[in-house]
Amino acid sequence: MVRDHAAQVDQEAVWPEHGLRALQSAGLGGLVVPVEHGGLGHGLHTLTRLCEILGRECASTAITFGMHHVGAAVIAAKVTPWQRTQYLEPIVAGRHLTTLALSEPGTGAHFYYPQLQLDPAPDGSFRATGTKVFVTNGAHADSYVVSARSDSADLGDFSCFVLPEGTEGMTWGEPWSGLGMRGNSARTLHLEGVNVPQTQLLGAVGDQIWYVFNVVAPYFLMAMTGTYLGVADAALNAAITHLRQRSYTHSGRTAAQESVLQHRVGALWETLERTRQLAYAAGRAGDAGDSSALPALLSSKSAVADTAVQVVNDAMGLMGGISYRDGNDMERHLRDVRAAPVMSPTTDLLRIWTGRVLLGQPLLGE
Ligand SMILES: Cc1cc2nc3c(=O)[nH]c(=O)nc-3n(C[C@H](O)[C@H](O)[C@H](O)COP(=O)(O)OP(=O)(O)OC[C@H]3O[C@@H](n4cnc5c(N)ncnc54)[C@H](O)[C@@H]3O)c2cc1C
Repeated sequence: MVRDHAAQVDQEAVWPEHGLRALQSAGLGGLVVPVEHGGLGHGLHTLTRLCEILGRECASTAITFGMHHVGAAVIAAKVTPWQRTQYLEPIVAGRHLTTLALSEPGTGAHFYYPQLQLDPAPDGSFRATGTKVFVTNGAHADSYVVSARSDSADLGDFSCFVLPEGTEGMTWGEPWSGLGMRGNSARTLHLEGVNVPQTQLLGAVGDQIWYVFNVVAPYFLMAMTGTYLGVADAALNAAITHLRQRSYTHSGRTAAQESVLQHRVGALWETLERTRQLAYAAGRAGDAGDSSALPALLSSKSAVADTAVQVVNDAMGLMGGISYRDGNDMERHLRDVRAAPVMSPTTDLLRIWTGRVLLGQPLLGE
């Protein structure tokens, strides 16, 4: 299903609804929802593997479904009984898709410094005003996990709330048309005085840095890491298949018999496998609550961003002119994979954070 629609999703920039509905119908909607809330109780390692498998076929499906799981993990982290009924139960039943709306035009890659205002109203609820950008699953999800700050909050102290699609005061920008990840529907969301009842707040006001480094970042990082491992794997396998089949009339030999090409394939496989094993180990360490997991989780995404771009580039080189032809899957992989380094947390910030963890420095701040 996901494979069958991959080309159409890319060419027409359509949200991958067929694949997402099939994944929900297969019972995977509650993949990372804890068992006590009716979910499958899986964690970072399984999410990485699932996104890797999906990413081999369609990077947009992998990220859109991955972002649903990041949102579900954030909702589940400090869920109230009302939120459990309203959100987690339909997520587990495969009837509700959620996603994250963190990035903003003003703060860009610094998604942990939201400017969207969440101010108390006299009736005890809140009013949200501001703009989110690149909201994957935008206008298609059933709910959005939105970050915001209040006037009194210090920089970096913010709150998250969950917002149902269609709430009065929400408007969407233009449909998404990206270079790659064209099924993402990564749209701009404007909120103007949107009413946010207390019941929709996630956790306590101001404890969101806990969310960022304990839930959002680990799940977000591993969803992206898995996706781009999958894209790189698909590209390398396409190159291997090509080299085995490509034969030359002048020599009667296949490209697979040339030692230079054997060497290049071996080196690429080694690079990809090293990154894959780092990611799997990081996911398992994170799932086990290992205190040393954070640098490995951060490095998994920065490593895969470099590796996947290199593998797709080099795999195209191995396939020669055929990979450059219109309509070739490699062209889609190349466009999709270019999002890996620029999607937050970006490679620059991840390497700084990894260094800060190792040097015992505060993660945020200049
Ligand atoms: C396909 C796609 C899907 C996305 N989906 C989502 C989503 O679902 N939800 C969501 O919230 N966001 C999403 N995003 C947003 C994304 O994750 C980033 O937040 C956004 O692309 C970065 O913002 P910007 O372009 O303004 O970068 P800028 O902030 O302008 O940064 C540009 C570059 O400068 C570097 N940089 C900036 N400041 C520093 C610094 N102080 N130190 C070191 N380096 C620095 C950055 O690392 C980056 O490489 C998506 C983006 C894409 C491309």
